[in-house]
Amino acid sequence: MTGNRKPAKKRYYPFFGPEVSFQEAFPDIDDICVELQENLHEKKHYWLAKNSIGEVVPYCSNRLCHDGGFELGPLIRDMYAKKEVEREDLLICPGHEHMGSRWNTRRCVNYCTVRVSIKYRNRISH
Ligand SMILES: [Zn+2]
Repeated sequence: MTGNRKPAKKRYYPFFGPEVSFQEAFPDIDDICVELQENLHEKKHYWLAKNSIGEVVPYCSNRLCHDGGFELGPLIRDMYAKKEVEREDLLICPGHEHMGSRWNTRRCVNYCTVRVSIKYRNRISH
């Protein structure tokens, strides 16, 4: 039993496969509004319109947080697949804080409440 194990795979946060615009990724969405309420740190409360929504909101108000943000992509894709018009959910910041040295880190504990409202295009019935 020699230590020949591969190092744990680094977690990563993929973006939309090929980079496409919101419109290309979700052609049936006419309009969308995302409301975010951070629950810790500066407790920022803000809204995102369609043209400012991406896979991730690259923002966390915890000033010690690195690589923080909130992932909207999976949530919107899931809603889109189910044609849901409204959903409220919690998103946890995947960032981390450096504790004195770069090898000593802990997870960011910030999280936010997100409310997504989607208006779908009228589709031709078939
Ligand atoms: Zn964070």
